[in-house]
Amino acid sequence: MNLPRFADVVVIGAGAVGAACAYFAAQAGLRVAVVDRGPIAGGTSSACEGNILVSDKEAGPELSLAQYSQTLWRGELAEFGHLWEFESKGGLVVSAKPGTQENLTRLAARQRNVGIDVELVDAANLKDYEPHLANGMAGGAFYPQDAQVQPMLAAAHLLRLARGMGATVHTNTKVTSFVRQGDAVTGVVTSQGTIAAPAVVNAAGTWGAAIAELAGVDVPVLPRKGYVMVTEPLPELVRHKVYAAEYVDNVASSYAGLQTSPVVEGTRGGTILIGSSRERVGFEKSVNPLVLAEMANKAIALFPFLADVLALRSYSGFRPYCPDHLPVIGPDPRAPGLWHACGHEGAGIGLSVGTGALIAATLTGTAPAMDLSPFAPERFDSLRQEAHA
Ligand SMILES: Cc1cc2nc3c(=O)[nH]c(=O)nc-3n(C[C@H](O)[C@H](O)[C@H](O)COP(=O)(O)OP(=O)(O)OC[C@H]3O[C@@H](n4cnc5c(N)ncnc54)[C@H](O)[C@@H]3O)c2cc1C
Repeated sequence: MNLPRFADVVVIGAGAVGAACAYFAAQAGLRVAVVDRGPIAGGTSSACEGNILVSDKEAGPELSLAQYSQTLWRGELAEFGHLWEFESKGGLVVSAKPGTQENLTRLAARQRNVGIDVELVDAANLKDYEPHLANGMAGGAFYPQDAQVQPMLAAAHLLRLARGMGATVHTNTKVTSFVRQGDAVTGVVTSQGTIAAPAVVNAAGTWGAAIAELAGVDVPVLPRKGYVMVTEPLPELVRHKVYAAEYVDNVASSYAGLQTSPVVEGTRGGTILIGSSRERVGFEKSVNPLVLAEMANKAIALFPFLADVLALRSYSGFRPYCPDHLPVIGPDPRAPGLWHACGHEGAGIGLSVGTGALIAATLTGTAPAMDLSPFAPERFDSLRQEAHA
């Protein structure tokens, strides 16, 4: 399809977040053009697990965004759930030691205070949830709201639905610079031509910093690498998303070195997905078998039957990581006309739809459903000034 010369809003990035922005902006009546340098969901949205989690988040702005996103996945988007294989599978967090279970109990209490459904599980009852779990665990917590989607299908169908409302989608179209009028962003220059638009949304995920730089502003999104291993199909052996309680600490940590913690989950197709690893090694793509071995050993400690199971393949991706672990969402006062919707780290699939709805609200001058100040693009400038004061 030819590139339009004008749009009300250009969305850069056809991953889950860009697709959700396009969907809600088109629904709000805006003429939307989505551009991506590659295919639909060719970035991190095709290198992840697609969980929609509340369990792994402390009470705070990210959890509030996760709750808002849950209302959309389960509310107005529920009629499309079958398209992206929405599965309300629930999450089981497991503690190997009594001290870990005490911490998990405190986390669960804080989450319950802000409206999360969570049931503490005694050691004796863990196998009611997961019959093949290792013996000797100290306890756990079950989160019925944790869910999963197939992330590439979610991105593709949100874009298809947006197209049905008038949006256009242009793959193999790389943004190379912005059209400017003074400080203001008034369009994009791409490898296929120029689109004039009063609003441009940077939904370039882990590459959001590079897009911001094209506009002369700093948004410090960095790659945080992670692997996923996929087993042969073994339906029903793992019923939920199951992970060790230490995973929550690793998610929240800013450590740049390698961290692994066991995450094991069954999928509709029968394969079992095994995670997780985190490390900041730039955009280094090579496969390190030692990381995979560490992940496998920890998964076997959680589910001993995995020792005899074939891993068919592995893949890796780069989570879009911000130093304060919060995404960047909203208009950028340093470059009027530029919006950001990037930096969702390991939660961008779950948080995509809430982000899209919030972006659409601000694009149309409607009050957003939640306070956007914790996600402000310019927040890092003031942090940096404080650090230098
Ligand atoms: C191992 C792993 C497991 C994960 N598990 C989960 C999970 O279970 N649940 C969850 O919610 N999240 C998970 N995540 C995180 C999630 O994958 C990301 O947060 C999410 O995919 C980000 O989506 P996005 O649309 O912002 O970015 P992307 O999907 O990366 O899309 C950005 C797009 O921008 C395009 N782009 C970049 N530069 C340009 C340019 N100059 N011009 C045009 N287009 C450009 C890219 O081609 C890309 O398609 C995981 C990540 C990893 C690595």
